[in-house]
Amino acid sequence: MRSIILGVLLLAATGTAIEAQVGNILMGTTAPKKQGISDETLFREVIKELSSDEFGGRKPLSQHEGPVLEYIAGKFQEMGLEPAVGGSYLQKVPLLSVKTKLKNNQISLKGLKGKANLAYWDEAVVWSLRAEKNFKFTNADLVFAGFGINAPEFGWNDYEGLDVKGKVVVVLINDPGYYDEKLFKGKNMTYYGRWVYKFEEAGRQGAAAVLIIHDTAPASYDWSVVQNGRANDVLSLLSDTGNKELVPLQGWVTGDAAKKIFKTAGISYDESIAAAKKKGFKSIPLGLKSTFEFTNDAVVEESANVVGVLPGTTRKDECIIYSAHWDHFGVGKAIDGDSIYNGADDNASAVAALVVLARRFKELDERPERSIVFLSVTGEESGLMGSEYYARHPLFPLNKTVVNLNMDVWGDKPRTHDVVLGSPGDSETDRYLTEAAAAQGRYVSPAVSNTSGGYYRSDHFSFAKVGVPVVFAAGGSDYLDPEAVKAHNLHYNGKSTYHQPSDEYHDWWDVSGSLEDTYLFFGIGLRLANDGYFPKWSDSSPYKLIRESQK
Ligand SMILES: [Zn+2]
Repeated sequence: MRSIILGVLLLAATGTAIEAQVGNILMGTTAPKKQGISDETLFREVIKELSSDEFGGRKPLSQHEGPVLEYIAGKFQEMGLEPAVGGSYLQKVPLLSVKTKLKNNQISLKGLKGKANLAYWDEAVVWSLRAEKNFKFTNADLVFAGFGINAPEFGWNDYEGLDVKGKVVVVLINDPGYYDEKLFKGKNMTYYGRWVYKFEEAGRQGAAAVLIIHDTAPASYDWSVVQNGRANDVLSLLSDTGNKELVPLQGWVTGDAAKKIFKTAGISYDESIAAAKKKGFKSIPLGLKSTFEFTNDAVVEESANVVGVLPGTTRKDECIIYSAHWDHFGVGKAIDGDSIYNGADDNASAVAALVVLARRFKELDERPERSIVFLSVTGEESGLMGSEYYARHPLFPLNKTVVNLNMDVWGDKPRTHDVVLGSPGDSETDRYLTEAAAAQGRYVSPAVSNTSGGYYRSDHFSFAKVGVPVVFAAGGSDYLDPEAVKAHNLHYNGKSTYHQPSDEYHDWWDVSGSLEDTYLFFGIGLRLANDGYFPKWSDSSPYKLIRESQK
């Protein structure tokens, strides 16, 4: 106990004291040798470089991808990591890039009570992930299918008795629990609440198109985030069928556009939405026909994940995976005169953390027993594609992959007393996190609610889906110095930079908490790298059976 208290005092004293502490945070190993620049300088340098205008916002398949990959691979090499892909640092990831053009830039609706058009971009943002060149749907029926959820374990099926083949399905974002604590997992968004799921399910049901009704609160982001995510060519992983299993047209409509749809149908919007939130809801045919035509400019291209490894000593085939996506949105719609989506916080910052971690692991006096893999994935912003590809084509056996520690949005974080655990009770990795946090003098606060569905919104989810336990955590909001944080936040004028061109690096960033979180992850990974144990999923986890079937 005494040493922990002493540790806390040291940590509070200076930034370099944090660094000196790192090595013995958990394992009692010696502090890493000091080599060249400090962790903070290295961290800032990599963020600044990757988020500079020269890298053009790191859009996969853009002309900037090559230099970005080269830069990250170069950093991995400089830190002493070995290439993990047959002598190369690059794992090629085939992606389908599609530019969808909607004829007349609108979706037209026709009903008994009248006609209406939904203008592309301002009222509807739609795209296709299919490889075919042309699509035309004539007089496709519109149907309101509630949340578009088929969840047997929650006794909920919005598709009950409904045939949506060739139809346009209109659905709500999130899940019923958002509106009624007793349903699903209450405010904790389940995977059924995610837009990705809505499209997947409608695909299984054979729909021609899906339009999700946007609503800022339950979606957790506003309309501009929907637009910015689709401002350029849309990317997807390419399946063996050319993505024929996917709904031809996917997208969102604004809340106002949805009201327009219902008004044209002559059906009460408010009553329909209210009905959809109750158990036993029956889908509502809208009596509207839509004819729409679009072309796909579809090209298959190769992006890449960057992968470096520090081979373990005695358990080389077992590994710990640190991950951070390198991609962002590239150049898009200008906001306040700026069209480069630099993605400094999201996610140059976590790539920088990978580099810091690589150096720390490399500098250890004793190399860990298990291998440490550093994975910087592509295509996260377009739907976790690089990590999904890795999970389908792992470079190290999944059943021997001990844990995934994923980092996303990792910069400009002042130090906090707390560490927020995103999915408490999911697996035994909770214990490793709690102990590593305690060694830093921090406490773990389990996230009470996860309304934004964050669990499904970053790359660790690709690992969870294939049974690999994850650590989903980061510093919270119990700041060491709340007054300093208030002053600091004035830099932002109360505006969010999330997925905006304003997500840029500034020297005024406070990275003390970012580094402390990085060291926290270092502690967890180091311990597991020498532990010989495989943390298990809890009984209630949907991923437990998947893990157990991996022999
Ligand atoms: Zn991100």
